[in-house]
Amino acid sequence: MARYRGARCRLCRREGEKLFLKGERCHTNKCAIERRAYPPGEHGRDRRLRITNYGLQLREKQKARRIYGVMERQFRNYYAEAARKSGVTGENLLQILEMRLDNLVFRLGFANSRPLARQLVLHGHIEVNRRKASVPSYRVRAGDVISIREGSRNLLPIEHSVETRGGRDLPDWLEANTKTMQGRLLRVPTRDTIPVTLQENLIVELYSK
Ligand code: SF4
Repeated sequence: MARYRGARCRLCRREGEKLFLKGERCHTNKCAIERRAYPPGEHGRDRRLRITNYGLQLREKQKARRIYGVMERQFRNYYAEAARKSGVTGENLLQILEMRLDNLVFRLGFANSRPLARQLVLHGHIEVNRRKASVPSYRVRAGDVISIREGSRNLLPIEHSVETRGGRDLPDWLEANTKTMQGRLLRVPTRDTIPVTLQENLIVELYSK
């Protein structure tokens, strides 16, 4: 299935909150959620629409997919893997999503949005343990070192991201060095240290029907 290439702000408006898909713009008053905080489309402002329990579960799943930039089939595979593992399925699912390479490039501050992080990985600017890694869904393991390739360190989008985000909002399970342009996944995060506002129990309810 093709990747979504439409307006990203529509996705935030559909979910009713900022998903931070456009980098710096998301932190300014140009953000579409600040200006039009209602769902897109002809009936976006129709307050009579009632949302069912299924609707709530579906929206939460879509929100997770959109935050992490994952297509439906891959998301379902992640869920199946999370359900097979021991522990809490919702937490397992978030851990799997958080350990994607593109997500970690974003979290480390080398990109100011996940879509940019994905592009940096695809274009071969990222290394894991000093070897080129060009698959955004690559699963990083605890202890792995993620770095920007030497020849790519002066690229404008990377420099700008490091200047504006470097070191800010860094969870305690990551370590980043903006001078050497490298970071490390220290450990697998627990639910309380993953900074997303998802209600993953609704996603589990949806898929376990
Ligand atoms: Fe979402 Fe960013 Fe667009 Fe705001 S500017 S609606 S947070 S993508």
